[in-house]
Amino acid sequence: MPKKKTTKKKSSRKAPVRTYTSSEKRRAKTIYNELLKLYPDAHCALIHKNPWELLVATILSAQCTDALVNKVTPDLFNAYPTVQATAKADLEDIRQLVNKVNFWQNKAKSIHNAAKMIVADFNNEVPKTMEDLIKLPGVARKTANVVLGNAFNINTGVVVDTHIARLSQRYNFTKHKDPKKIEQDLMALFPQNTWTMLAHLLIYHGRQVCKSRHGLCDQSPLCKKYCSNAKIVAAERANKTKKKASKKKAAKKKATKKKSKAK
Ligand code: SF4
Repeated sequence: MPKKKTTKKKSSRKAPVRTYTSSEKRRAKTIYNELLKLYPDAHCALIHKNPWELLVATILSAQCTDALVNKVTPDLFNAYPTVQATAKADLEDIRQLVNKVNFWQNKAKSIHNAAKMIVADFNNEVPKTMEDLIKLPGVARKTANVVLGNAFNINTGVVVDTHIARLSQRYNFTKHKDPKKIEQDLMALFPQNTWTMLAHLLIYHGRQVCKSRHGLCDQSPLCKKYCSNAKIVAAERANKTKKKASKKKAAKKKATKKKSKAK
């Protein structure tokens, strides 16, 4: 009798969320408090007056700088000051108003369709739950976290952008590269009431000190204390200075030799 082929079932189990020791949590809390001292005014960089404007600005900010979004949104909000007005707008007009940001065609469509859905299904109000927010076109978990945290003061998750991902790895908060897994780790490591501010602090530090290239590793006392990279960078710098000094010494020696030969 022919053997039945056995196909391995794919495991539907999710990777377990990392558990942190109390000393790891204490360390994270200390870093959080130090960052808070450095950036007491850390806040959302997207200019907005209400949840709808923040939602629009966040949709526009995907793979685009906040500074550029802030240049584009005033004209858009002047032309269409409310969610109802945006729902009734001509899509082509929205497109022209946002065409300086990348993926402007898709983003304009998402804004238009999100406005229509909010008017039709949510009584003209931006929804206040993750479950409802991610039903809106152009809104995934990261955008929803931005809106919930900054417009409603609700900590449902942690925003993970490129700065937050980079710093979370460098400060050893996570070993993951996937934003979803990084978010799970940050949620396990930090108290819920700090999640929105945590994202701002890491973004501020990422922009000002821990840049993706040429981070100012050896200039930040916090980094020197808590990031292993700071030690590596300091050692590299010391090595470079040593090499430079010995090159200079050798050149000087050569020049003196040449001088004495000429005499
Ligand atoms: S030491 Fe360097 S790599 Fe580490 S967090 Fe600071 S700036 Fe970033």
